[in-house]
Amino acid sequence: AKAQGRNTLCFFDPAMQAAASARSALEGDMRQGILRNEFLLHYQPVVDEAGKVLGAEALVRWNHPQRGMVPPGDFIPLAEQTGLILALGRQVLTMACRQLALWATAPHTADWTVAVNVSAQEFRQPGFADEVLSVLRDCGADPAHLKLELTESLLLHDVEDSILKMQALRTLGVGFSLDDFGTGYSSLSYLKRLPLDQLKIDQSFVRDVLTDPNDATIACTIITLAHSLGLDVVAEGVETEGQRAFLLRNGCQQFQGYLFGRPGPAELL
Ligand code: C2E
Ligand code: CA
Ligand code: CA
Ligand code: CA
Repeated sequence: AKAQGRNTLCFFDPAMQAAASARSALEGDMRQGILRNEFLLHYQPVVDEAGKVLGAEALVRWNHPQRGMVPPGDFIPLAEQTGLILALGRQVLTMACRQLALWATAPHTADWTVAVNVSAQEFRQPGFADEVLSVLRDCGADPAHLKLELTESLLLHDVEDSILKMQALRTLGVGFSLDDFGTGYSSLSYLKRLPLDQLKIDQSFVRDVLTDPNDATIACTIITLAHSLGLDVVAEGVETEGQRAFLLRNGCQQFQGYLFGRPGPAELL
């Protein structure tokens, strides 16, 4: 009866309570994981028309002591909600820049670029550009080999501020790629004002590019749009030779996907 009385005072149902406590356990775990350096980067190659590696995208993984390798979809959203993404993002950028400095020391990897995903909260920090530059400097990495992957919603949140931050980094050679292009607001009038280097065709358009005429049209339109704006274009999520051939025939010059390599440790690139 006592227990029942307690329950009647509770506004949350047990499932919600369980979810909330799982979240706060995960948050605590993540906080500790950041301090204990449990996060690491896997790298996925980006290749040109001839299949030559141009560089790689850095994709974060959590090597959790009990759960093993946790994919970013399972912790990035919570990291964003809790602000932990700021500390995690700094670690990610630092690891990627160390890798760049290492690649610079070997002839066949010296030209490789690394692409790093940046979340909205990180980019919105007033000191974002300075932080990126100080990490590059500390690691001894060449800014011209770093690419930052941003999303439309992040950039359009405050276009003027985005342009200023991008320009500050661009004068030192840092490149910018618009990730998941076509899935967001697609505000074409802003697109031409943003100092971008590259559009990434989202994998949702690549997946059925051979079977869905709408996806084929969208992919081809993005390629044409990129070229008319003077931007590079990368297709992500390329899994088959047929997809590659179609995209190549329609002017795409860079590719990323399981066809060329799955994300993995830098040593396996
Ligand atoms: P994204 O930036 O769109 O990254 C591409 C995702 O597609 C990666 O998933 C990659 O493993 C996966 N992928 C690559 N090639 C193929 C393919 O051929 N077929 C299929 N089906 N999938 C492919 P992942 O590593 O699980 O990352 C998921 C998302 O997590 C990323 O999407 C990105 O938004 C986010 N993320 C990853 N690392 C970071 C990071 O360091 N910082 C931030 N803020 N976000 C990150
Ligand atoms: Ca990305
Ligand atoms: Ca993407
Ligand atoms: Ca995506």
